[in-house]
Amino acid sequence: MPSIAPNAERMPRSGIRAIMDMAWRLPGPVIGLHVGEPSFATPPHVLAAAEDAYAQGRTRYVPNAGVGELREALSAKLGERNGIEAATEQVIITAGGMQALHLALSAVVSAGDEVLIPDPGWPNFAMVVQLLQAVPVRYGLRPERGFIPDADDLDALVTPRTRAIIVNSPSNPLGAVLPETEVRRLVDFARRHDLWLVSDECYEAITFGAPHVSPAAFDTDGRVLSAFSFSKTYAMTGMRVGYLVAPPALSAVCAKLQEPLVACVNAPAQYGALAALTGPQDQVAAARDAYRERRDAATAVLDKAGLPYLRPEGAFYLWADVSSLSGGDVSGWAIRLLQERHVAVAPGTTFGPQGEGWVRLSLATATEDLLEGLTRLLDLSD
Ligand code: PLP
Repeated sequence: MPSIAPNAERMPRSGIRAIMDMAWRLPGPVIGLHVGEPSFATPPHVLAAAEDAYAQGRTRYVPNAGVGELREALSAKLGERNGIEAATEQVIITAGGMQALHLALSAVVSAGDEVLIPDPGWPNFAMVVQLLQAVPVRYGLRPERGFIPDADDLDALVTPRTRAIIVNSPSNPLGAVLPETEVRRLVDFARRHDLWLVSDECYEAITFGAPHVSPAAFDTDGRVLSAFSFSKTYAMTGMRVGYLVAPPALSAVCAKLQEPLVACVNAPAQYGALAALTGPQDQVAAARDAYRERRDAATAVLDKAGLPYLRPEGAFYLWADVSSLSGGDVSGWAIRLLQERHVAVAPGTTFGPQGEGWVRLSLATATEDLLEGLTRLLDLSD
């Protein structure tokens, strides 16, 4: 039999999906604090717009870069909400934020190039870099620095092969939101070393205090590529709509790269996204308030138990230090928690080596389940 491509075989699995598989196989209900999926329903006007598109036969191929009206509306949104000046041509509709990230990196990274990724960071960053036969190089986000990237650490990691840095704020798994000064420093860092900066902003709408700041707002020489998504903001994870905002010099190549991959994104889903963007935004605000309330309820429980954590300022994750319970093997402990107490969490090591001793708890889970899950978790010592 011909062999499987070594790069495909070597690809690590996301530890979150692995826990998900185990949870599905268990008999009986499991409290799921592992997945980042809004507990709210997709807004009815979004569903109606997508259904309408199906009914009207808008079911044919559309241009690679997406439906024109959606791209125009996004160009306006980027100016109003993100301070990013982007012409319609710079907006490319993708199959979720995941594909936006892949598209961005495919446009700027070659085999053997190095890409700086956060540790802890979303597992897909390392996976997508590896998919492109490039090399992920982790930069540490350390508790003593408030989990904010350190300029000296970053400088020390740059080699002649470094091509890009991935930045993610609000962060999965930390819930950290980079302030403007840090965002500007990262853009300066990319400029100083002549790197591309790929910014993952899928949680832009979920912040609890200071607002989200887009690196592209400070991009003076066209080196920032920004990945956005409808998934989390509008509770439409399964509709698979996101978008990439490319610098002017890259927009044509990015649109071209859609061709061998997807040709274009599901057209009715794009009309659903247009309705999400241009319709009422009250559900977005209500979901954000609910996440904030859940954060406060969960952190009150952890405070009472004396368990350290990073107070999330955005996204919907709580990064908690369970080293006092997990005894040096957080992955094994998470499996025990699942098997013995039927609570699924994402072990910190899934997000990089710095995650040993930590877990990521999803605040996207209904409050009652979140609190019951925490009670069971605190009960499981090593
Ligand atoms: N970026 C981050 C940091 C995420 O956590 C996720 C989803 O979990 C995504 C991007 C992509 O989401 P989607 O492809 O559903 O838009």
